[in-house]
Amino acid sequence: MDAWILDESPGRYRWGQIDAPEPHADEVRVRLVASALNHMDIWVTKAAPKPHTPHVPGADGAGIVEAIGDAVDNVAVGDEVVLNPALSCGHCSYCLAGESPYCKTFGILGEHHWGTHGEFVVLPGRNVVAKPASLDWPEAAAFGLCWLTAWRMLKRARLNAADTMIVVGVGGGVSTAGLVLGVASGATVYATSRDEAKRNNAIRLGAADAFDSNQRWPVRADVVFENVGAATWDNSIKCLKPGGRLVTCGGTAGSAVEISLPRLFFKQHEIIGSTMGSYREFEEVLKLVAGGVPVPVDHVYDGLDQFPEALNRLKAGDQSGKLVIRH
Ligand SMILES: [Zn+2]
Repeated sequence: MDAWILDESPGRYRWGQIDAPEPHADEVRVRLVASALNHMDIWVTKAAPKPHTPHVPGADGAGIVEAIGDAVDNVAVGDEVVLNPALSCGHCSYCLAGESPYCKTFGILGEHHWGTHGEFVVLPGRNVVAKPASLDWPEAAAFGLCWLTAWRMLKRARLNAADTMIVVGVGGGVSTAGLVLGVASGATVYATSRDEAKRNNAIRLGAADAFDSNQRWPVRADVVFENVGAATWDNSIKCLKPGGRLVTCGGTAGSAVEISLPRLFFKQHEIIGSTMGSYREFEEVLKLVAGGVPVPVDHVYDGLDQFPEALNRLKAGDQSGKLVIRH
């Protein structure tokens, strides 16, 4: 198959041919119609994490089932499907309990497994779900990783309609997903960004207001939605109400933070870690986006040969929505 290939990490992608794997009994092969970019596509080129090479990147995609293993019964050849990028063993105690994000072998498509920026992808049958007719191909390809991650974060933070939430550093995929899913949950959602255009965009997507990340935020929140880390940590903690919950899935601007224990226990705050999501959470979030929760797409590139251009736009960081490639 034709694909973007990483021969070593750290390294650079090259366009080339590589043998598409045959699906095992519990796997399917999907011909990709569209794939979407994530920062994972950059991190694997910097050995953070270091994938097995040669590697094909890409966590998100949607396409048409082309071949299925003998044990797959949830889809058939020719079905239009969306991909759940959260991979797990399927048989450990966590997986059997429906908590696959705790699985020891938990991984992400395009991280330690070949991903979606090629003609085909092979993945477990349980990781493909029928594409809802209400989603077009770019939306279907774009929501997986970020909307799943954000949805589990909101659930772990126990966000409810009476809550006020602040989404810190809005603009990236996960924070945009947190914003629109929070609004859909009925909560009052505020956003922060250093960038005025991103603040305005957040308000267009339903934020009650948006503030400069670097200044003191004028609201108090039940839930703070974080994936920035060190650069915004102090503001994020200070704006929590007593009993407030800070949920984080990353630290793109610094991973080491300081915690004041008296503030933590006197204010009875909770700091909650979260990563990716379970199969049930994927079904839930798919239902939400199929029902109208927006999946903002910044740009659709026509052809996989546009991947380097899309990657440059992702690196520049001025997009307001997902970057999608139509294959
Ligand atoms: Zn497992």
